[in-house]
Amino acid sequence: MIQFCSLASGSSGNCLYVETPDVAVLVDCGISGKKVIDTLKEIDKNSDKIKAVLVTHDHSDHISGIGVISRKLKIPVYASMPTMKSILNYDSKIDKYTIIDEEVFHIGDLEISVVKTSHDSPDSCGYIFQHENSKIVVMTDLGFVTNEIIKKCNGCNFAFIESNYDLKMLMYGSYPMETKRRIASEIGHLSNDDCGKLACSLANSGTRKFMLGHISSNNNMTTIAYNTVRDCLIFMGYQEKEFSLDIATKYEHSKIITID
Ligand SMILES: [Zn+2]
Ligand SMILES: [Zn+2]
Repeated sequence: MIQFCSLASGSSGNCLYVETPDVAVLVDCGISGKKVIDTLKEIDKNSDKIKAVLVTHDHSDHISGIGVISRKLKIPVYASMPTMKSILNYDSKIDKYTIIDEEVFHIGDLEISVVKTSHDSPDSCGYIFQHENSKIVVMTDLGFVTNEIIKKCNGCNFAFIESNYDLKMLMYGSYPMETKRRIASEIGHLSNDDCGKLACSLANSGTRKFMLGHISSNNNMTTIAYNTVRDCLIFMGYQEKEFSLDIATKYEHSKIITID
């Protein structure tokens, strides 16, 4: 059994919660330690169960609260070597950390696989979590979807994926041209349409539960993201009652997803 909850998601701060019967981990911490603790209380989860905080990449919306939460909960930070170097530059007081140097590793009864992503940060990644027959993927901040991603996500019961921007809102929005290009590039973020295509590929390999995250507040709207991905799935022949689609926002925690 795996449970998942987005404590916060978006360019102003990300933190995700993943739990099995024995352990729990956080993915990223770009919000304050207080917000993490308060939100865990809101969703009725005991912070003593959390054994690690895994980092996807070194952008501040994913690491700004890493040191604080590591010290507060007395848990190690898990990251690849390049990401850990940046984290230590950001917060040199972090003393509990583990370098991820294997594609698959374990924390308690949770099996974790690294999925490499294309993003403007060295060694960025998403994570696949497995416990017995439950398999979920957590992946935001990527410019495009590789074949390797599709292969590794095969059979995931649940996917937390990025639906960052609406192309028209980005194009006609107020961001400088250079920023617009970066967001839409192969080392930027997934648009709603890209996310819809990804959801369809995952649905083809069995995924039926989806949650959309890292939704831009400037270049997107939750309703547009939701409708685009839902319409893609329906267009590909999946009926609305066959799948569940949820949204994670920056202000509030998401609902808790349980995969048995
Ligand atoms: Zn981000
Ligand atoms: Zn990023």
